[in-house]
Order: sequence, then structure tokens, then C-alpha cells
Amino acid sequence: MAEVILKNIEKRYGDFVAVADFDLTIENGEFLVLVGPSGCGKSTTLRMVAGLDDPTGGEIHIGNKNVTDLEPKDRDIAMVFQSYALYPHKNVYENMAFALRIKKLPKEEIDARVKKAAEMLGISHLLHRQPKELSGGQRQRVALGRAIVRQPAVFLMDEPLSNLDAKLRVVMRAELIKLHRKLASTVIYVTHDQTEAMTMGSRIVVMKDGHIMQIGKPTDIYDSPKSMFVAGFIGSPPMNFLKGTLYRKESAIHFKTEGVDVPLPSHLLQVAESYLNKEVLLGIRPENLYPACENDHEMSCLVEVVEHVGAEYILHAKTTGDTEIVMTMPAKVAAPQIGCSLLLKCEKEKIHLFDPESGHSLT
Ligand code: ATP
Repeated sequence: MAEVILKNIEKRYGDFVAVADFDLTIENGEFLVLVGPSGCGKSTTLRMVAGLDDPTGGEIHIGNKNVTDLEPKDRDIAMVFQSYALYPHKNVYENMAFALRIKKLPKEEIDARVKKAAEMLGISHLLHRQPKELSGGQRQRVALGRAIVRQPAVFLMDEPLSNLDAKLRVVMRAELIKLHRKLASTVIYVTHDQTEAMTMGSRIVVMKDGHIMQIGKPTDIYDSPKSMFVAGFIGSPPMNFLKGTLYRKESAIHFKTEGVDVPLPSHLLQVAESYLNKEVLLGIRPENLYPACENDHEMSCLVEVVEHVGAEYILHAKTTGDTEIVMTMPAKVAAPQIGCSLLLKCEKEKIHLFDPESGHSLT
């Protein structure tokens, strides 16, 4: 187990900056997830920790040791890739034992480690199979087993579940969470999937264009996104954004746009003062909208699409001002009909305001 410190890491390819100002301490035993859209620099960051790419600036420390200039094999890390990268002509046992044989560990030690990891992963019965005789999920377990037997200080995982089908991904997600609890080791995990980030990470780093946009616990990032980018990226279906202006009505401040008039909650009033009569974006998550009555509503919409996804409906509607709104609704209630009018209110404490130019949250 070890702490990993990334000190102002940077990676440039000529003039192109793939990662910049990456400053982060990953604590001992933490499950840290790097998440962001394709090309944001997640894999590059992970590969620099692994020693597979050299940073063009900054330092990397693993367990009190500056490893910036060390070879991957001297960093006490194990990497699990999306592609599994198993040796096709070695059986499962030999795949798992390989790195230990290179290290010239005693035979008994290798055997004990392989068998213990296989048991932990539920693949003891597969040790004599060839990789081609395994399912995707089993191969993924072997790839994990290969990393576990090495007992590294840090596990580095690059989209390890993305080659699995949707159902198996959910199963393996839970398996990885349990495994991390058992091993209590430091994990740095790369994914573009916000659900994986939310469910697995003890902390999440949201990246965009090579930069850290926000670092925090999943719930903090979900509840208090610092920017429209983070608010829109984390959460599915994503947060709704409405463009409008703030105006004073008696002692309250309201957000207004065509078909929408929302009185702001008290926690936003102070910041709203400085945006009076200016344009802002109101953000509200799909699950924080609820149906309202004719004489007490804040949004007036028309239902366009109703998706029934098991436990809930996802409604796609349009305000009379032509803004798309998505809301979720428990499937216990009757679904509104397509083309019907839908009157809504916002959960007051869940309203966010953003600056339309910078995209920053106003709170
Ligand atoms: P994905 O989710 O698609 O794997 P990512 O967030 O992991 O994306 P990286 O693979 O880290 O992104 O790439 C970050 C940026 O660096 C991308 O714009 C990529 O095109 C660029 N890049 C990566 N490797 C090189 C290279 N060898 N030469 C030039 N540019 C590169």
C-alpha cells in the first residue's frame, strides 16, 4: 500500500498539451477514479504513473519515493488494461504466475499467491484453461489476478470493464468494489463512464482538455458541481440547463424565461443579487423536477417522448420557450401521455445557477 503524489505533472506532445497542472495526492488505500470525455488525458496521466509515458514536467512519488525517472518494473505498480493483455499460449495459472517467475520467487510462494488470488476471484477451477477457452468476464478476472499476485503498492486500471457487456460490467463493478475492500490497496482507475466513477470511486477527478475540473467525493461532485461541464458530465440523464434572467419580485428573486418562472431558494439569494436583470443558466437535475398544479407551477411544458426504463419513466418535454427538459418519474404513477401539457416545479434546494460566459457555478 502506498500514497501516490503527482506534483504538477505535465505532458506535451510538441505544442499540444495532453495533461497540464496535474497536482494531486492519492491517499493510501484510496480508490481514485479519473473520469472525463475521450481525449481529456486520463490514460496519459495513468501511463505516466505507470512509467509507460514520461512526463514533460513535474514529479511522481509512490510511497515516499520519487519514481519519476524509474522504469515501470521498479515502481511497485501493477496495471490492468482494457484489452486484458493475457498471453494466449499460457494457461491461466501460468498467466498469473509469469511476473512472479521473472522475479525468481520460490515455487511454493508463487503457487500460494496464484491459488490465493484465484480463490479470491472465483477462478480456481479455471487455472488449467487457455485464455481462448474463457468468457470475457473470466478473462477480465485473470487479468486482475495477474495484478493481484504481484502484491503491488498501487493498482493502475485503464477502463478494465469496457470490453464486457452491460450486464457483466455491473457484476464486475461490484466485484471490484469488494476486491478493493479486501485488499485495502491504493487504486487509480480510469474510465469515461460516469456511473463507474460515481459507484466505485472514494474520490473522483473530473478531467477536461488535460486539466482537472473538479476533485471530490462522488456525492459532493454530484450535489455541488463547480461548473456546467462537471454538472453535465456527472449524472444520467444529465442536468437540465435553462437560459434566462433574474428579476426581483417583492422580497424574492426569480429566474425567468418563456414558460418558466422559478423563485430562487434562500441559499442562492445573496449571489443572485449581483446577477439581477442579467442572463444566467439555471441547472436542475431530472430527478429534482416534480409535477405541479395549474395554480402553483414553475414550468409549463409539452411531453414529447416517454421512455419506460423499469423502475422509472424518463420524460422528454419542451417548455413553451422551446427548451428541452428531461425529468424522471417513478413508474408507480401513471405516465403522462405524449403531447399532453406537463406543469412542473423544482426542488428548491437542488437548484444550481451558472454564469453563461464562464460556465462556473455561482455558488
Ligand atoms: P480515451 O478515453 O479516448 O482513451 P483519454 O482521456 O484517455 O481518452 P489520452 O489517451 O490520455 O485521452 O489522450 C489525451 C490527448 O493526448 C488526446 O488528445 C490524444 O490524442 C493525445 N495523445 C495521446 N498520445 C499521443 C501521442 N503519442 N502523440 C500525440 N498526441 C497524443
